[in-house]
Amino acid sequence: MAKSLLTDLSFEELENLIDGLGEPKFRAKQLWQWLNKGADFEQMSNMPKVFLDKLSQNYNAQGIEIYGEFKSRKDGTIKYLYKLSDGNLIEGVLMKYKYGNTLCVSTQVGCRMNCAFCASGLDGLIRNLTAGEILGQVIAVNARNATEKDRGVTNIVLMGSGEPLDNYANVCKFLTLVSDEKGLNISKRNISLSTCGLCDKIKQLADDGFTPTMTISLHAPNDEMRKSIMPIAKKYSIDDIVKAVKYYFEKTGRRIIFEYSMISGKNDSEECARQLAGVVKGLACHINLIPLNYVKERGLDGSNKKSVYRFMAVLEKQGVSVTVRRSMGSDIDGACGQLRRKVINNEDN
Ligand code: SAH
Repeated sequence: MAKSLLTDLSFEELENLIDGLGEPKFRAKQLWQWLNKGADFEQMSNMPKVFLDKLSQNYNAQGIEIYGEFKSRKDGTIKYLYKLSDGNLIEGVLMKYKYGNTLCVSTQVGCRMNCAFCASGLDGLIRNLTAGEILGQVIAVNARNATEKDRGVTNIVLMGSGEPLDNYANVCKFLTLVSDEKGLNISKRNISLSTCGLCDKIKQLADDGFTPTMTISLHAPNDEMRKSIMPIAKKYSIDDIVKAVKYYFEKTGRRIIFEYSMISGKNDSEECARQLAGVVKGLACHINLIPLNYVKERGLDGSNKKSVYRFMAVLEKQGVSVTVRRSMGSDIDGACGQLRRKVINNEDN
C-alpha cells in the first residue's frame, strides 16, 4: 500500500497520531516544525531514531521535491518543476514583486476542463493532488528561497495546473493548513483561487467559510463564444457565474477578479469589450486582461498590444476597473501546464 503523507495532516491530526504511537505530545510540535521547513526524516536531528523509523514505515514526510528550476532572464520569475512520490510531474511559478513573493500552485496533475487554449488539459485529468502535495509546493520553494532578508512565499495563487474547485476537499484542507498560525501562516487575504467557473462550488466555498480572492477565468463576453473555447460553459452560463459571484461577494465582502485571456481575432474586438462591460456592470470586480501565451498544440495566438489596449480603453470608458497583466515568464513556458508537457515530451524522445 502507498504510504500516507505527513504534510496532509493538520497539527491536531499530527498530535493524535503521535499520541496513538505512545510518544509525548511535544514530539508533534517538533515534527510539525520540521515538516513545514521541508525536512525529510534523516534531517530531523532532535528526534529519536526509533521513533522516526516507526513513522517512516507508514508515512512519507515530504511528498514532493523540486526536480527542475528555470529562471527567466527577463523578469526574475522562477518556474519550478516538482516530482511527486509516484513520479508524476507538476509545476509552479514564483513571481517576485515589490510587495512580496507570489507562488502559483497546481492543484491537479492534468485537468478535466480542456479549455481550447490551455496546455494542462491536453492529457485530461491524471489525478488530484492531496492537501499535503499542494502545501508541499510552498514548503519546497520556501526551503529553497527563504533567507533572513527574503521572507519566502507571502502570497499564493491557485492558478497552476488543474481546476481547484474540481478537487474541492483537498483544496479546502490546503487553505486551512497554509494559513495555520502555527504553520506557514500565510494571510488568508493573500490567497487567490482561480476557477473556470464551477458555480455550485463557488457558493459552497463561501458557505464553508473560506474567503480566498475569487478569480474567474471568463475569457468570453457571451455564452456562445465561451462554449467554443471552454467546455464548462455548456454546464454553467455566464448568468450562472454572475449569480454565483454575487453570492460570494455578499458572503465574503471580497471583490471578484475576472481573468480575460485575449486570443487574436477571437475575443478581442471592441464589440466584445462592450459586451463584457455589460456582463460585469454593477459587480464589485476588477478585470485582468492577459495576452494569451502561445501553446503549440493549441495553435491559438495571443492578441497584439494594440488590440489589448484598444479593448482596455473601451472598458475604461464604461467605468470598468481594468488592468493589463504583465505576462511574466513567457520565455520559460510560463503558462499553465506548458513546462510539464515539454519535459515529459523530451523525456519520451
Ligand atoms: N482551472 C483554473 C486555474 C488554472 S488556469 C482556471 O481555469 O482558472 C490559470 C489561468 O491561466 C486561467 O485563467 C486560465 O484560463 C489561464 N490560461 C491557461 N492557459 C493559458 C494560456 N496559454 N495563456 C494565457 N492564459 C492561460
